Amino acid sequence: MTGNRTFTMIKPDAVENGYIGAILDKITAAGFKIVAMKYTQLSKRDAEIFYAIHKERPFFGELVEFMTRGPIVAAILEKDNAVDDFRALIGATNPEEAAEGTIRKLYAASIGENAVHGSDSDENAAIEGSFHFSGREIY
Ligand code: ADP
Ligand code: MG
Repeated sequence: MTGNRTFTMIKPDAVENGYIGAILDKITAAGFKIVAMKYTQLSKRDAEIFYAIHKERPFFGELVEFMTRGPIVAAILEKDNAVDDFRALIGATNPEEAAEGTIRKLYAASIGENAVHGSDSDENAAIEGSFHFSGREIY
């Protein structure tokens, strides 16, 4: 059981493909309440900081390039067991391995361009949420 908040981004590929509405529908239908949300674009520096944990990985440059190439939707979501339930809703990192009906299975094209982010722990949910939102932007 995880805590009651997680952090998500609808990534540039899903925004480009017109899936913002469909993805937000899936999220709210699954019982998540949106407590903060913004339409924004990451700078190179933002993406490098956000994904710093992956900086030694071979795909890091590609990831930063992808995540900065267009706007995203960033949001903090609330629900019991938010981190685990949201990871289940989005599916595996690689959409080819994601379960039927998951957001990545439905809306993602590849392991790199995989439509959505979901925090992997309560600790990271808090760090990632406060990276994007001040206390006054969370309702
Ligand atoms: P997740 O987003 O499922 O938590 P990771 O934390 O492992 O996955 O990776 C962060 C992001 O880096 C992924 O969502 C994806 O956009 C990208 N990524 C992961 N693995 C690869 C890969 N092998 N090649 C290209 N991009 C990748
Ligand atoms: Mg991750």
